[in-house]
Amino acid sequence: MQQLQQLIREAQSFYQEGRVATYIPALSSVDPKLLAVSLIDGNGSAFQEGDYQQFFTLQSISKVISFIFVCETYGVEHVLQYVDVEPTGDPFNSIIRLESHQPGKPFNPMINAGAITISSMLPGVEVDDKISNLQNFIKKMIGAQCEVCEEVFTSEWETAYRNRAIAYYLKANGYLQGDVEITLEAYLKQCALLVDVKQLATIALVIANDGYHPLSKERIFDAKIAKMAKALMLTCGMYNASGKFAAFVGMPAKSGVSGGILCVAMDAKIEELQGTIGIGIFGPAIDAVGNSVAGMKFLEELSKRYQLSIF
Ligand code: GLN
Repeated sequence: MQQLQQLIREAQSFYQEGRVATYIPALSSVDPKLLAVSLIDGNGSAFQEGDYQQFFTLQSISKVISFIFVCETYGVEHVLQYVDVEPTGDPFNSIIRLESHQPGKPFNPMINAGAITISSMLPGVEVDDKISNLQNFIKKMIGAQCEVCEEVFTSEWETAYRNRAIAYYLKANGYLQGDVEITLEAYLKQCALLVDVKQLATIALVIANDGYHPLSKERIFDAKIAKMAKALMLTCGMYNASGKFAAFVGMPAKSGVSGGILCVAMDAKIEELQGTIGIGIFGPAIDAVGNSVAGMKFLEELSKRYQLSIF
């Protein structure tokens, strides 16, 4: 695994080109130099390097998981009445297209407008039910309960002016289901769920295997939903840098402003690991778009070295 270790060492120095997120105050105190990587294949062979014991919040990575869960619960056709699957090229928290493209249907579930709509559809009426249902779904993949980081949740809740505006606008247009404040709390709590890179890689492994968990040998969700999730990750998963990421890296991935990236490698052979591989990364220094700089550098070099682009 020496080549992987070298790739990580080289990527780590790129943290200097980014900064930790500050718009969620609780995220601003993280060490920007951290970098952790985990890769896991369908036989359970795993590789971990760097600060892999570090826990971090899912943030926008939760959007792909909640989308899958809501689709598995209600069916894709139902869900697509409330959110489209079209990239925007706009920042993740953009509002502009909600009004300019009538009837205001959110473009995709990977931007905040679409993700908040999906959170409103999480099964359960109260916030606690919605979150514990989502936690149970994640537990089927990682075998552990991921907890809400109350500090990060509270910090974002108190400053969520923009997300609150998006949520009320979605309600006015009939896309957000149920109560707005309950939805917003559920959305921010799902963003504040804590994971480590190995757990992230395991979730990626299940998505990579079209909803089948190769380690527990259980089907967690429908293959049709997994394929849609991967298409969304590829076209919208890295925010308004998704086109470049597809061009230079070419793997379905989803990032979060905490610096996490969930990524899937198909038909791969990376040293001792092979087949479909789940990748989890944590590198908290992010670029202006919101993606981990060291994480993206690592994935770009990994893709080049092992020819992982799906194109
Ligand atoms: N909780 C964050 C927000 O809604 C998630 C954004 C992100 O990771 N891009 O702004």
